[in-house]
Amino acid sequence: MFYFDKVDNKKILKSDLIKNVQAFFTTREICICDKSEFLNSEIEKNKKIMASYLGVEENDLICPVQTHSANIQIAQENISAYPDTDAIILTNKKQAVFLNFADCTPIILYDEKQNIGAVVHAGWKGTAQSIVSITAKKLINDFNSNVENIAALIGPAICFDCYNVGEEVFTQLKKTVKDFEDLYKVIDGKIYVDLKNINKKQLVELGITKVDICPYCTCCNNEYFYSYRKENRTNLRHSAVLKLI
Ligand SMILES: [Zn+2]
Repeated sequence: MFYFDKVDNKKILKSDLIKNVQAFFTTREICICDKSEFLNSEIEKNKKIMASYLGVEENDLICPVQTHSANIQIAQENISAYPDTDAIILTNKKQAVFLNFADCTPIILYDEKQNIGAVVHAGWKGTAQSIVSITAKKLINDFNSNVENIAALIGPAICFDCYNVGEEVFTQLKKTVKDFEDLYKVIDGKIYVDLKNINKKQLVELGITKVDICPYCTCCNNEYFYSYRKENRTNLRHSAVLKLI
């Protein structure tokens, strides 16, 4: 179950499904990504707050350049730049991973037995390329994770009622799971898809059943989170964060 916690009197969103490491989602109150670079001093301040909360050096806060790809990288100590990357696997305790969002689905995977995890950016393009299941498969095949030990947090993202898509997007998303019946609806000729649950279904079809889905929508709960659609293509982002202990 998800609940709000506070860092330096600013809200963050956690889940009791993953307790032994730092795995959470920031809110509008802790923005560490501004694509327009207008809020630079605020961003620098927030990065300092996060680094001190997580107990890492500031240059060990990793923020990849996200491109809606299905490219997955493994975090390497002393490398902080990850161009063209939409999922990062974390196996070291020195770095903290931040991926940034405004409507797209943030997913944190964590294997408590191996003490490794990953943060995934799944907008419709990433979801259509099954980025979360490819990342989970990599944990299973390359890092000896067992499906029953992997827990997943699906964070704040645009909800089923708010996410209207075109036929082409619908067709691509439909192909990623065996049973798409409950994951779309048509209202007044418009197609809506449930991005959070499509990602959950991709994980469940792999055998990962420990999945906690955040009840918040970036549009409906815009007071807490950024929304690209609702806020006229905002440059600001909230983050999904993972730091191993
Ligand atoms: Zn909504």
